[in-house]
Amino acid sequence: MTYQVDERGYYGKFGGAYIPEMLYPNVEELRTHYLDIWNDPKFQEEFRALLRDYVGRPTPLYYARRLSEAVGAQVYLKREDLCHTGAHKVNNTIGQILLARRLGKEKIIAETGAGQHGVATATVCALMGMECIVYMGKVDMERQRPNVERMRILGATVVPALSGNMTLKDATNEAMRHWINHPTDTHYIIGSVVGPHPYPDMVARFQSVISEEIKMQLEQAIGRPHPDWVIACVGGGSNAAGAYYHYLDDVRVKLVGVEAAGHGLDSGESAATTALGRPGVLHGSKTLLMQTDDGQVIEPYSISAGLDYPGIGPMHAHLFDTGRVQFVSATDDEAMGAGIRLSRLEGIIPAIESAHALAALNKLKFSKRDVVVVNLSGRGDKDLETYIRWGKY
Ligand SMILES: *Cc1c(COP(=O)(O)O)cnc(C)c1O
Repeated sequence: MTYQVDERGYYGKFGGAYIPEMLYPNVEELRTHYLDIWNDPKFQEEFRALLRDYVGRPTPLYYARRLSEAVGAQVYLKREDLCHTGAHKVNNTIGQILLARRLGKEKIIAETGAGQHGVATATVCALMGMECIVYMGKVDMERQRPNVERMRILGATVVPALSGNMTLKDATNEAMRHWINHPTDTHYIIGSVVGPHPYPDMVARFQSVISEEIKMQLEQAIGRPHPDWVIACVGGGSNAAGAYYHYLDDVRVKLVGVEAAGHGLDSGESAATTALGRPGVLHGSKTLLMQTDDGQVIEPYSISAGLDYPGIGPMHAHLFDTGRVQFVSATDDEAMGAGIRLSRLEGIIPAIESAHALAALNKLKFSKRDVVVVNLSGRGDKDLETYIRWGKY
């Protein structure tokens, strides 16, 4: 059993590249070059240097003493919240912009929902002096004003998507259209382990630095590189893919993915794809997604903007299908409670996405000696308004 992508771009029955004919040359160019670039020692050197000096890696692996006592296990937090820009997303945008330069691209496009991937993209475009256009649904632009302004401060052009519901799906369509019209000079930076092959594998490799560091840090802390559990929240699945990556074949390590149950799995307002989704094609790959009986994508809901996505990446669909990863879900209330608990016990206000991963600590059965790594994907600064509106602290 392998959990990695095969030569055809599939993870079991999921993955592939379901794209309009006109996008084929762009995606094919990426597919034929990405592994050679990734494996080039010069590329690795450049990537590692920026992760160290610009992103601030390695991020600490922190033993959370008071949280451990409360949970009844040995809980370590992988501090992706301490990355520059406040979350793991920048690991991927650094990797992709270096790759884009290797391919001779001069311009970058991206789509963004809540704006976090847009900000991580605008950040690396400023760093490299490259032109940046970010497509964002008009409705999302109104909901996420601060991120729109952040992107503009960083020098990016934010283009409103005015079709459909004017949210993420429509922004993705606009970005694809732009890419079709500018195939030679433009690279499209996708923000999670989603999209047509080779994006899911490429993004997973860029994020795999997370579990590479966890292995070394655990070896130092406890004398063995593997924990008993790794827990991560799953929107598209990139922070989880990075945290699982080097443990996928190590069955001693129990892997847990936490999805957003929103107002509850039966409420009609959630984003719990493995619980509610069925196979279909989304954003260019075959995966699990929430859809109506006639195949219309269902608008997802979560209090956390980063988990508000109707599908998951094909790697995760396969990990779910094979049972390698146990998926659980946490409601808005459970996640907010877990976010407040971490704030009070450890002095760390987590992103609400990451709070979903923390909520799973109440749902799993640990023994006192179990070593549990929770991937703390981001910091809560961006979510202050949501914490204030929720109010129960
Ligand atoms: C975007 C985001 C997520 C969800 O994206 P994945 O691709 O599933 O990792 C999770 N946490 C934070 C802090 C985010 O910004």
